Amino acid sequence: MIATIWRRAAPHLSRPSHPRAALAILTSHTLTFSTTTQTPSPAAKMDAIGVLMMCPMNTYLEQELDRRFKLFRYWTQPKQAEFLSQQAESIRAVVGNATAGASADLIDALPRLEIVSCFSVGLDKVDLARCGEKGVRVTNTPDVLTDDVADLAIGLMLAVLRRICVCDKYVRSGAWKLGDFKLTTKFSGKRIGIIGLGRIGLAIAQRAEAFDCPISYHSRSKKATNYTYYSSVVELASNSDILVIACALTPETTRIVNREVIDALGPKGVLINIGRGPHVDEAELVAALVEGRLGGAGLDVFEKEPEVPEQLFGLENVVLLPHVGSGTEETRKAMADLVLGNLEAHFSSKPLLTPVV
Ligand code: NAP
Repeated sequence: MIATIWRRAAPHLSRPSHPRAALAILTSHTLTFSTTTQTPSPAAKMDAIGVLMMCPMNTYLEQELDRRFKLFRYWTQPKQAEFLSQQAESIRAVVGNATAGASADLIDALPRLEIVSCFSVGLDKVDLARCGEKGVRVTNTPDVLTDDVADLAIGLMLAVLRRICVCDKYVRSGAWKLGDFKLTTKFSGKRIGIIGLGRIGLAIAQRAEAFDCPISYHSRSKKATNYTYYSSVVELASNSDILVIACALTPETTRIVNREVIDALGPKGVLINIGRGPHVDEAELVAALVEGRLGGAGLDVFEKEPEVPEQLFGLENVVLLPHVGSGTEETRKAMADLVLGNLEAHFSSKPLLTPVV
């Protein structure tokens, strides 16, 4: 049903896989489509509005921002402080992501800033308190990326336990001809503990159930599910074979996985991090892996991306990814459409599609 309406109403946009996200865009009133002409209304013309993009994040998003608004590319400015003071009066929107958002200093430097539209669901790079104080609206890209991140979390679990990357190298190097690959560890049925049973955490749990994995979780409050709740992360880790980090990064969840948690997970335990790097005490994680006090790790995120501790490079029980949780063509396009939809909604005085502040 939604697919049919979308084809008629917005054929030139990619439809988010999540029905709620598609419905939000269709009902936003921000995209004034004609079902016969199939082109956006000129009412959406906003090319005098200054939008500051913080870093390169997506070619389609950049092209569309350039086409619809007056786009400033922050990363191309050799003297950023000078640039900000020169353009302070013309910038009314900031587009950030998981790498670069809107700090209190940036917000203070832009007196006409009205909205920060994030090309990410995580908002740890945006000073939400300062936005609230200054009446700056904030949006993110929830739901549309949930499937991809949850899929990747399961992929990391399988890759670590079944040594998929090592197996691949084994075949490519010709080593298979010299003998069979060593035995690995079964994934189905392993006890999975999830820190943060939000959208992504729940999607991981639902996928893991299909592998007959018992699910436990920790978050600030107990949810209405049959999964086992632990109010302590250490207790959750003690009762899990695989511990997955899927919570938001806040001061409270920074280094939520420390030495005590790693030791509770133990030499057969596996840590999966698809949240943010600073959730983990990285030096402790590296030491535990090198010393064999932790069984393995699957990491999509790191403390100082794109820097990754080199001690991890030689370890077969570790799988390292370059922060690609939402990195598919389909999802990045849907995220970009949400960023654009939120900006157009704001500047047409319509309700935001995915408001946070
Ligand atoms: P969400 O629905 O808002 O879920 C966030 C979860 O964090 C909630 O379950 C919340 O539980 C939990 N949480 C917050 N503070 C906590 C605390 N102090 N202790 C324990 N749990 C806490 O967000 P989401 O859409 O699932 O996304 C989750 C995170 O994934 C994002 O914030 C982002 O950092 C990360 N992410 C990573 C990638 C990637 O590429 N690797 C992609 C997308 C998202 P309670 O409210 O019940 O405490």
